[in-house]
Amino acid sequence: MDIDFSPEDRAFQQEVRAWFKAHTPAELKRKTVTGEMLQKDDIVQWQRRLDTQGWLVTGWPKEHGGPGWTPTQRYIFDLERAAASAPVGLSMGVIMLGPVLVAFGTPEQKAQYLPRIRRCEDWWCQGYSEPGAGSDLASLKTTAVADGDDYILNGSKIWTTYAHWATHMFCLVRTSSTGKKQEGISFLLIEMDRAGIEVKPIVSIDGEHHLNQVFLTDVRVPRKNLVGREGQGWDIAKYLLTHERTSIAGVADCKAHLANLYTAAGERRSGGRPLAEDGAMRLKLARAEIELMALEYTNFRVLADTATGKAPGPESSLLKTMGTAVQQTLSELDVEIAAEMAWPWHEGGELGHGRYAHAMPRYCFSRAATIYGGSDEVQKNVLAKMLLAGGAR
Ligand SMILES: Cc1cc2nc3c(=O)[nH]c(=O)nc-3n(C[C@H](O)[C@H](O)[C@H](O)COP(=O)(O)OP(=O)(O)OC[C@H]3O[C@@H](n4cnc5c(N)ncnc54)[C@H](O)[C@@H]3O)c2cc1C
Repeated sequence: MDIDFSPEDRAFQQEVRAWFKAHTPAELKRKTVTGEMLQKDDIVQWQRRLDTQGWLVTGWPKEHGGPGWTPTQRYIFDLERAAASAPVGLSMGVIMLGPVLVAFGTPEQKAQYLPRIRRCEDWWCQGYSEPGAGSDLASLKTTAVADGDDYILNGSKIWTTYAHWATHMFCLVRTSSTGKKQEGISFLLIEMDRAGIEVKPIVSIDGEHHLNQVFLTDVRVPRKNLVGREGQGWDIAKYLLTHERTSIAGVADCKAHLANLYTAAGERRSGGRPLAEDGAMRLKLARAEIELMALEYTNFRVLADTATGKAPGPESSLLKTMGTAVQQTLSELDVEIAAEMAWPWHEGGELGHGRYAHAMPRYCFSRAATIYGGSDEVQKNVLAKMLLAGGAR
C-alpha cells in the first residue's frame, strides 16, 4: 500500500533508511530473517546502539529521552527498521514499564528507573500470570503483607518471559482480600536478587528457554517500590496491557516477513518451476497480503487517535487479534514454502544458508501469540463489550 507522506516525513524516511542500512549488524539481520531466537546480549547491544542514536524509547515523552516524533514518524521508523531486517528487540522495560512509570511513577521512581531502562542497565520481566490466574488475572493470589517499611511477598508467577535474564520484575500482588478482587491488587517493583526469589525454567515447544516460573517465599520489598496507590494495581495493569497489545500486532515486521516469503517463493522450486508461479501458493500469499493490508489500516486508525492524544483502548485488542492471526498465517507459509527444509535438523539446504532451519520452531512458537498478552477468546470478549456499548467506529 502506498502512503503519501509529507516532504518532511519523506526526508525523515530517507534518513532512517540510510541509518539502518549502515548500522544493522549482519548477524542480527540473519537472525531476524530466519526467526532464530535473539539472546540477551543481542538485544542489549542493539538497544544501546539505538539509544546512542536517541532512537530507542520512541514512545516516551521528550523529557525522558524520547525523540519527540509524531505518530507518523514512529510508524515510518518502524517500517524502515523492519524492512532493513533489524530486530524489534525492545525489552519489557522499554515497551511496558516505561510508559507506566511516566504515567503513574513518583518523581523518585522516574529518576531512578527510566534512565537505567534506556541505557539497558536493568532488564525487566512481567510478573502478572500465576498458575491459577491467567485470563482471570484478578484472581491472583501472590500476597504482599505490609511489615514496617517493607512488604513481605509470598506466591508464584508463571510464564514469566526472560525472568532468567531479568534484574527486576514489575509484579501484580494482592495487598487486600476484602471487597472486589480487582481493588485489592497493587503494582510493585522487585529486584530479582532479593532473598527468597527462585526462578525455574520452562522450555517451550520450539526447544528454547524463553519462559519461567518464579517462586516468591517471604521476599522483603520496600514499600517505596509501590507504583501508584495501594489497590491501584488493576488500573495500572490495564493501562500497561493496552501498550503491550498494541505492540504485539507488529505490522511492520509482518510486512517485512511477507516480503521475505515472496522472495523465498521465487527461489524455491516445485515441479520444476518457481513456487511463486504455483496458483495455490499465489492465492495464499495474496490472501495473507490482503489480511495484512486490513491490519495496517486498523493500525492507522489507532495511530490517528494517538495523534490526537487519545490512549489506545479496546482497539488494542482488535490490533492484537488481527496481528497475531497474520503472524500465524505467515509462519505457516514459511513452513509450506520451506517444505522438507523446515525441519530443524535439516541444516544447510539448497540455498546454502540454513535459511529455513528455524521455520518449524518459529511456526510452533508463534502458536503462543494468540495466548500471551491476553488470549484471542478474551480479546474477543473485550471487543464484544465495546460493540455492545456502541463503541464501534
Ligand atoms: C509464550 C508466552 C509468554 C508469556 N509471557 C508472560 C509474561 O512474561 N508475564 C506474564 O505475566 N504472563 C505471561 N504469559 C501468560 C499469558 O498472559 C497467559 O498464558 C494468558 O493470559 C492465558 O492465561 P492461562 O495460560 O492461564 O490460560 P487460561 O486463562 O486458563 O485459559 C485457558 C483457555 O480458556 C480460554 N478462556 C479463559 N477465559 C475465558 C473467557 N472468559 N471466555 C472465553 N474463553 C476463555 C482461553 O482463551 C484459553 O483458550 C505468557 C504466555 C505465553 C504462552
